[in-house]
This record gives sequence, C-alpha cells and structure tokens, in this order.
Amino acid sequence: MSIKVVLGYLASAFLIILGLIFAWAASIQAASTRLPIAILMISLGIGIIYILQRRQPSQVIQKIEVSGELKAKVIQCPFCSASLDPSLMNIVDGVPTIRCSYCGKQFQIVEEPKW
Ligand SMILES: [Zn+2]
Repeated sequence: MSIKVVLGYLASAFLIILGLIFAWAASIQAASTRLPIAILMISLGIGIIYILQRRQPSQVIQKIEVSGELKAKVIQCPFCSASLDPSLMNIVDGVPTIRCSYCGKQFQIVEEPKW
C-alpha cells in the first residue's frame, strides 16, 4: 500500500467520524444545518473508500507447482495425437488444462509418477 492510499483511508475515516459527530449533534440541536453536513461528510468518506478500492485492480497469480523434476516433454493431444505448445496451457479450477489447437478438445495434463 502506498502512502497516498493510507492517507486516503485516514481522510475517509476522519470524514466519516466527523460526519457521525455532526449527525449526533444534529439530534440535539440545529438539525436542519448539521444533518446535511453530516450526510455530506459520511458520503464523501465512503466515496473516497470506494475510489481507493476501485483504483487497485486485484491480480491473481497462479503458479504451477510440480513435485518432481520437469522434463521437456512433448504434450500430445490424446484425441488427435497432435503435438501441442505448452504455452497454450491454462489453469481451469486449479488443474492445468490445455486446449488442442487442432481438434479443439480440452484435456487435463496429468503428472506422471516418477518411478
Ligand atoms: Zn487434438
């Protein structure tokens, strides 16, 4: 998190707290002037939080972890036996999958036992 984001959250927390104080004060006296200020401050604080949340795109990085040594092996389509480019590999539901660029069928890549 950068300094700007931290400051943004602090500012929004400050605005919301101040807005709540104004709302509480409005319940005691001068509601017609204090209540709009309270609403404005709270919505401003929420607005800042909303902007901060939107500005940070969440990135999901998936890593493939194999227990054994990786061998440069030609991946073959089990349907049409075409050799496939490993860069076509995708992670579907946590399973490495590849879509054959020749017959269009999708299949899972299974790790073969090492013995
Ligand atoms: Zn195929």
